[in-house]
Amino acid sequence: MQNVLLAKYGEIALRGKNRHLIENALLKTISKNLEKVGKYWVSKEQGRVLIESKEESGFFDYDKVIPLVVNILGITAVCPAIKLDNSDINNIREKALIHMKEHWSDKNYTFKVETKRSDKQYPMDSREISTDIGGYIFDNMDNISVNVRNPDIILMVEIRNYVYVYSKIIKGFGGLPVGTSGKATVLLSGGIDSPVSAFMMAKRGVSIEAVYFNSPPYTSDRAKQKVIDLAEQLSTFTGEITLYIVPFTEIQLKIYESVPPEKMTILLKRAMFKIAEKIAIKNNSQGLVTGDSIGQVASQTMQAIETINSAVKELPVFRPLCSMDKQEIIDIARKLGTFDISIRPYEDCCTIFVAKHPETKPKKSIIENIEKNIKDLDILIEKALNNIETIKF
Ligand code: ATP
Ligand code: MG
Repeated sequence: MQNVLLAKYGEIALRGKNRHLIENALLKTISKNLEKVGKYWVSKEQGRVLIESKEESGFFDYDKVIPLVVNILGITAVCPAIKLDNSDINNIREKALIHMKEHWSDKNYTFKVETKRSDKQYPMDSREISTDIGGYIFDNMDNISVNVRNPDIILMVEIRNYVYVYSKIIKGFGGLPVGTSGKATVLLSGGIDSPVSAFMMAKRGVSIEAVYFNSPPYTSDRAKQKVIDLAEQLSTFTGEITLYIVPFTEIQLKIYESVPPEKMTILLKRAMFKIAEKIAIKNNSQGLVTGDSIGQVASQTMQAIETINSAVKELPVFRPLCSMDKQEIIDIARKLGTFDISIRPYEDCCTIFVAKHPETKPKKSIIENIEKNIKDLDILIEKALNNIETIKF
């Protein structure tokens, strides 16, 4: 009997020909994550990933291993399990009892046993196995009673190449492994929303690059550090991230002196989009991503989004938070560990010089006209593109 971890994945099974590629991507990420915490062997076992300890003692450090596996995108759940070489029913019974006593002795519980049998040669069918093991546990534990409709505990017995027994299922994020659905470039501010939007794309298998518009000295080094810390934290979910830090001060000052204050936010955002699109095309992204949520602020009304969006010429712009409420976004940010970084109180370039009451219903034609008349804007954009600082995580 050996302690192991089973990792389950969902939609990958649907992906026909790509399935092996995707499974291998997952195996590789798990192995890489576990290198940090000990010697573990990662392999495929009939639609699951099996993680075994290679330590001589056989010690399996669940506290360290589980967080490094359950948060990998594409994993739907992990289950701490025991693996049995001997599939004799007497052996399964004994070991299942040991497992139950170890995990569920602290108070009264209801339970049932569910069996999956991919070994069709096995001399008993699934129902007989469940009944047998369930009866044995019931007879040998005082705090346990049976409830097949709505039990506290489901003891799973899976008879595959080996036998696995488990009773705890720890849920993961699901989705698809990063790198299996192309690449997108996220406009990453220091706020709460954009890191969540990057995560949502990564959850669908999209690799992420990030662009931050920096306006020193109006925004401080600490504001920039906040974005660096966010990108680093995000990379624990998304894998490698390249962060492009774009010097934005000159463009911002130029727009400030050229346009009425209530139109400034829209023009700033258009300049950001133009620059981000150029960076995205250069790094082979197939789209841009922002943290816009409809109606959240003046620049996120439908009219404002339409007017800002027309600055992007070639790529689709994804807004995975567009229909979400602030609280839903905050709940995800907390799970990702980005929330506490995002709420550090440093200034944001969009709050500097900007009107208290920006326009909520800008007209695209008027804005485009104003933009055309901002002298040398294109030259300043080129200049910013030539002075990007790049950091890789
Ligand atoms: P967030 O919480 O992501 O900062 P927000 O609610 O503050 O968003 P806005 O300031 O209107 O909203 O920004 C909308 C989106 O524009 C952001 O989610 C982000 O994608 C992008 N953005 C804004 N400011 C910057 C910046 N300085 N650098 C990069 N992207 C930015
Ligand atoms: Mg913001």
